Amino acid sequence: MLYDDQNIFARIIRNELPAIKVYEDDQVVAFMDIMPQAEGHTLVIPKTPAVTLLDLAPEAAAYTIQIVQKIAQAMEKALDIKGVVLMQLSGAAAGQTVPHVHFHLIPTSVHELGKHALHMGDQEKIKVLAEKIKAAL
Ligand code: 5GP
Repeated sequence: MLYDDQNIFARIIRNELPAIKVYEDDQVVAFMDIMPQAEGHTLVIPKTPAVTLLDLAPEAAAYTIQIVQKIAQAMEKALDIKGVVLMQLSGAAAGQTVPHVHFHLIPTSVHELGKHALHMGDQEKIKVLAEKIKAAL
């Protein structure tokens, strides 16, 4: 799929837009969702340009899922959560709104998962949660 390098996440990767980051290395960045579906909602994205999971090179997908697991483990330690929903939407028809592949880690139950990207979160509260996750990594 054609990649738009001006999408929000591409700009976060290039540090042109701010994000509350919890983890970053040369291949992946993880940051807090600006409109969380539950307290602690975190996004993990590979830095390589790909719109959906279907476009992502297998090596990048394999590495990213390792970081997804690492962040989920830190969330479990830091936020005293019982479970986490891993959500990945590929394609607008699936509900994807930002055209750069990403994995949602949402500390909630799938039965309580409402609509996503709906309400802006309290960014100061989100920063506190991010610090807790970072400290548990
Ligand atoms: P998608 O709908 O593509 O699966 O998920 C995109 C996610 O990105 C949504 O949960 C939405 O709340 C989040 N999001 C949209 N714009 C921004 C932004 O500028 N910064 C951050 N941190 N998250 C964003």
